[in-house]
Amino acid sequence: MGLLAWVKCSKETRFQVDGMLGSLARKLRIFGFDTAYQSDSSDNELLKTSKRDRRVLVTSDRELYERARKHEIESILITSTIDEASMLFIFKSLNLEYTEPTPFFSRCSRCNGLLERDGHEQMTGASERTRNPKIIFRCVNCQKTYWEGSHWRKLRKTAEIIRLGLNDKTANR
Ligand SMILES: [Zn+2]
Repeated sequence: MGLLAWVKCSKETRFQVDGMLGSLARKLRIFGFDTAYQSDSSDNELLKTSKRDRRVLVTSDRELYERARKHEIESILITSTIDEASMLFIFKSLNLEYTEPTPFFSRCSRCNGLLERDGHEQMTGASERTRNPKIIFRCVNCQKTYWEGSHWRKLRKTAEIIRLGLNDKTANR
């Protein structure tokens, strides 16, 4: 699947993540998914927003998962404590394919806001001035800034594990 197809499906798939899975919620945002998360949401609130906004409810609470299913809310039960494994499970469950996380369709990991490219490109240092201008992205909601490179480079290992897992058609079949 090409980049545009991914952007399309990542835009269409929205998540509601329960309060115990904060780091997973942040990763889903960085990968570009619209992901609602508040650490103190009650089960009833989670069910309500999932239903109202047509979000896939991601939870590690089996009872909540069963309740969601009873209410015909699409839900994914997370049993791993490893985010990479959980993301792989989510992507496989929803038949999502994969491409690298990039700032051009990522979301703010703190607040789920969209990122926009900041017009001001900062230089990293005299020696690097000509070849390494820093491209800056800013959250339109909370104004947090991200640099192309640092933020996404840290996720490269996560991304690689997920990519390999999705490409392995023999696993879990
Ligand atoms: Zn933000």
